[in-house]
Amino acid sequence: MAQYPCERHGARYTGPQRSAYFTLLGRDFERRERFRLCQPCFNESIEYLNDHFHPAELDVDFKRCETCGASDMSVAVFANTYDHKADGVAWYGRCCEDCAGGEVLVSLFSRQEALPLAQFGVQGGKTPVEISKATDALK
Ligand SMILES: [Zn+2]
Ligand SMILES: [Zn+2]
Repeated sequence: MAQYPCERHGARYTGPQRSAYFTLLGRDFERRERFRLCQPCFNESIEYLNDHFHPAELDVDFKRCETCGASDMSVAVFANTYDHKADGVAWYGRCCEDCAGGEVLVSLFSRQEALPLAQFGVQGGKTPVEISKATDALK
């Protein structure tokens, strides 16, 4: 058993712990969180990062929000993911403020004890009800 519960699905699990650090950096806000994750939740995060963002070593010329395509790409998204006994992988991307307060927040930062999402302080953020609806929609 891992020493800590997975911070995404909220229960203990067998097998080694993975961890991930996510950062949203906007014009006037910043949010950093560390997650201890079980393998399925870790893989889900990697899948989301792969679909929307890029390994940081790639030189990508960002032109729009990579999640919804809006021309606002004022929020920088950083992630560092550590698979079991593997070197960390750094990720980078850009998104708009709406996605930072919505889909990206829900997909990367949601936790089992998720209600304080509203306290994340992301500008243009959603209410807890909107966030839990968005979370349900992603299931
Ligand atoms: Zn989990
Ligand atoms: Zn967007």
